[in-house]
Amino acid sequence: MVDTIVVGAGIAGITAARLLHTAGQRVLVLEARDRVGGRIWTDRTAGFPVDRGASWIHGVTGNPLMGVVTALGMETREFTVGSFQAGGRPIADYDESRRLLDDDATRQWATDVDTADGLFQRTVAASGPDESYATAAERTLAATGWDAERVERVRAFYRHRTEEQCGAEADRVAAHALDEDTIEGEEVIFPGGYDVLPRALAQGLDVRLGRTVTAVGRSARGVRVDTEDESFEAARAIVTVPLGVLKAGAITFTPALPDAVAGPIARLGMGVFNKVFLQFPERFWQDDVYAIRQHGRAGVPWHSWYDVSAVSGKPMLLTFAGGAWGQEIEQKTDEEVVSSVVGALRKIYGNSVPEPVAHWITRWGSDPLARGSYSYVAVGSSHDDHDAMAEPVDGVLHFAGEATCGREPATVHGALQSGHRVAEQILGSRISLAELTQGVTPSR
Ligand SMILES: Cc1cc2nc3c(=O)[nH]c(=O)nc-3n(C[C@H](O)[C@H](O)[C@H](O)COP(=O)(O)OP(=O)(O)OC[C@H]3O[C@@H](n4cnc5c(N)ncnc54)[C@H](O)[C@@H]3O)c2cc1C
Repeated sequence: MVDTIVVGAGIAGITAARLLHTAGQRVLVLEARDRVGGRIWTDRTAGFPVDRGASWIHGVTGNPLMGVVTALGMETREFTVGSFQAGGRPIADYDESRRLLDDDATRQWATDVDTADGLFQRTVAASGPDESYATAAERTLAATGWDAERVERVRAFYRHRTEEQCGAEADRVAAHALDEDTIEGEEVIFPGGYDVLPRALAQGLDVRLGRTVTAVGRSARGVRVDTEDESFEAARAIVTVPLGVLKAGAITFTPALPDAVAGPIARLGMGVFNKVFLQFPERFWQDDVYAIRQHGRAGVPWHSWYDVSAVSGKPMLLTFAGGAWGQEIEQKTDEEVVSSVVGALRKIYGNSVPEPVAHWITRWGSDPLARGSYSYVAVGSSHDDHDAMAEPVDGVLHFAGEATCGREPATVHGALQSGHRVAEQILGSRISLAELTQGVTPSR
């Protein structure tokens, strides 16, 4: 019998397992996939890394993840545009008629978003858990007194913001959902691929791949964890599977989970956010931009493209599909998705836009081991619901993962902090995060 069984080898599970292992516990990690990392997933089939899951550290200042990444010697590149900003870095903005905004119009646009955001924060401060992001946005826009076109541009931006940051439509997302979504300092991405992080931290741990957990039973003596064909016993378990997997009831808990945990699981939302990478034979877009953005109604369904050429070393654009559109593309063939994205780019850049030479399309909503991309505060829930999930059940069952981190849900650093927190909970003492990288050599 081991001390702790960790279910799921994403960054939360690996962090908890490593800290407990370093503290002298016998730890077993059960992971259904044939790899570690979960929603950190670097596809290297083309000979260069393509991050199909997380790409960014959203704000390096004061971020504990940055310390871990630095200790592992991981190469980073500044790319401060990963949180759906309107300004701050060069963006080629196109208006409703697909004309490039000049410098003055671009500045005005960024100022409009700042002004609206200031008003929006005041609206949200006065809203309860049952108000949606969409209604708070409408109340804000009505207060601006701007003309219809100016309002529509910011309205579309707000809609896209929840689709990207929450993976859900603004009318499903709580007005307070993005309260925590502040970026401190620059954002960075990983030219060598994000998966270096979980692979390095998993070194030396007993991680059993290909083990799908189907049931977790608990008693005063500890836990019994069943996979499809084996059972394991331990003093306790830490379940780190995504919220979507818990919501789907893919793991049976006996006895049933108490309301204190089952309630938040039911109330919080699991969003869908997919990525489409297109590699082109040559560049046809501006040299010096971080992103290309189509404003207003013309930005439906594709509105933002990120120039990731510097990461792959190839002419490459990344675009996103979040919320209902993110779900819809999962039903389409690759050819349909690619032709739809290329069609939108041709409306901006003309028919000379070449056919892509390669593409990568994710389908996180239909992935049975994720059932979505990340959690969000749905109408009727609150950030406290995230943290409530992390309260131990009967002293032997713990939950961790991005969905359990009220301060930073839906992020890699939130997942990492949840793994750190649960390890401290179990050991009953503070642990320095510096211990996480002790004795680890970066695997490339
Ligand atoms: C497309 C996309 C883009 C993103 N971009 C960013 C970004 O740029 N920056 C950022 O900070 N965050 C981003 N995120 C969010 C980030 O990836 C996640 O918050 C984080 O990786 C979650 O880690 P976790 O350990 O909580 O969960 P996971 O990584 O999902 O780990 C849970 C593990 O449990 C396993 N599992 C599931 N069911 C079972 C079962 N029954 N038995 C055993 N194992 C099981 C899964 O296979 C998985 O490995 C993105 C996510 C997606 C999908």
